[in-house]
Amino acid sequence: MKTLVGVDVGGTACKTVRITPEGELLQEKVFPTRGEEGRAAFVERLASEIEPWMIGEDGAEALGVAVAGLVDETGTVVEAPNLLDFEGWKVAEELSPRLGGVLVEVANDVNAMAWGERILGAARGASNVLLLALGTGVGGAIIIDGKLYRGTHGVAGELGHVTLQVDGPPCSCGQSGHVEAYLGQKGIAVLAGGRLDAATEEEKEKLLEACREEGELNTRAVARAAEAGDPLSLSILQDVGRLLGLVCANYVNIFNPEVIVIGGGVALSGDLLLAPARRSMKERAMRATQRGVRLVRAELGLSAAAIGAALLAQGALSESGEMES
Ligand SMILES: [Zn+2]
Repeated sequence: MKTLVGVDVGGTACKTVRITPEGELLQEKVFPTRGEEGRAAFVERLASEIEPWMIGEDGAEALGVAVAGLVDETGTVVEAPNLLDFEGWKVAEELSPRLGGVLVEVANDVNAMAWGERILGAARGASNVLLLALGTGVGGAIIIDGKLYRGTHGVAGELGHVTLQVDGPPCSCGQSGHVEAYLGQKGIAVLAGGRLDAATEEEKEKLLEACREEGELNTRAVARAAEAGDPLSLSILQDVGRLLGLVCANYVNIFNPEVIVIGGGVALSGDLLLAPARRSMKERAMRATQRGVRLVRAELGLSAAAIGAALLAQGALSESGEMES
C-alpha cells in the first residue's frame, strides 16, 4: 500500500501524520518545534522523525509540509512571525534530498487545513470554500472551483487581515482595525473584558470562576461558562458570533461560496457561536450571494493541517504524473 506523509510546523509543536491515499490516518507523532535552536537543527530532527515512514514498501510517495507562515509561489517561507528563523526556508530544497528525493509540497498551514476540510471534512465535495481559522491569529484560505486560490505570489487568503474599522485596535501584522484584532483571541478577550466590567457582581460570578480555572480571561473561559449556561458568557459569544457573521457576509458578497468553514480553538464553542453568526450573515449578505451558503464548524481537529498537507502533496504528485496505480 502506498502512503502519504503530512507535517504541520507550528510555532510550538510539529505534528506529523502518515495516511493512506484515501485519507485514513495510520500513524501520528507530535514533537516540539524548538524554533529557537535554528532551522538546520529542526530540519534534521524532522527528517529523522519521518524517515522511517518514507522507506520500504509502504514508504510515502509524497510529503506535504504545512507551515505557520506565508509561503510564496516557489515554496519558500517568506513571513513567519512565530517562526522567525524559518523565514527564507526553501522547504523542498532542504528536505527532499535528505529523504531520498521524495516529492515535497509546501503550503501555508491554514491553506492545508482548508484542503483537508474540503477532501475529508466539513466542506467535502464543495467547489467554492472559505475557511476562517480563529485562534491567536485569524487565518484564512480560499478554494475556488475546487482549487486552492494562492494568488499572484502564493500568499492570497489573508481573510483575517481585512479592515473592519478605520483606526480600530492594533493587529499583529502592524496595521489596525483588522478582523483579527476583533476575532482573534486577544480581541475576543478585550470584548469579554468590557462586558465583565459593565456587569454586576452577581452577573459576572460564573465567568470569573471559569477565568480562575483557566488562569486568565480567555476564549476558553468564556466558552466553558457559556456551555454551563452562564447568561453573560452566552451573550458575549452572541456578540462575537454577530461580528463573525458580519465578517462572513463580506466574504459571501465577494466569493459567493458554498461553504464557510470556521476552524481554530474559538470554533469549539460550536453553535453557541455559529447560530448568531448565521443569523447576522443572513441579515448582512446580499440575497443572491448567500443563497444556500453554509456556515459550519471544522471537522478534522488538530491534525487538519498535517492531513491537508499530505493530501495537497498527493494532488501535486498526480499533477506531476508520477502517481503509480
Ligand atoms: Zn492584520
